Amino acid sequence: MTPRDGDRLRSALAAGLFGTCPRCGRGHVFSGFLAVAPRCSHCGLDLGFADAGDGPAVFVSLIGGFAVLGAALWTELRYEPPLWLHLVVFLPLTLIVCLGLLRPLKGILIALQYRNKAEQGRIEG
Ligand SMILES: [Zn+2]
Repeated sequence: MTPRDGDRLRSALAAGLFGTCPRCGRGHVFSGFLAVAPRCSHCGLDLGFADAGDGPAVFVSLIGGFAVLGAALWTELRYEPPLWLHLVVFLPLTLIVCLGLLRPLKGILIALQYRNKAEQGRIEG
């Protein structure tokens, strides 16, 4: 990995985090909360290649589940609060963490898909 590759990776991650175009870094990738725009509003990059599939949901489940479940377990072991308090605190927290992570992770996966020219496999024949 060369220093230039590191810069490109950092810029792809930043573009994904902020939902900006992976090519120009200025236009927007999303036209809704999770809907991908047909093309970049600044440079016109065709975003038809963007298909993150279930990737964002998997990462959200793993990262968000680990964080929220870890916090719930730590709270239970440390303070032993009643069950209703767990429900009042950790159910909304789960929703907030998962929805908060979903869009940035989808943006990162789309940016990495563009950077690595990832596409559906084909059989030549
Ligand atoms: Zn662009």
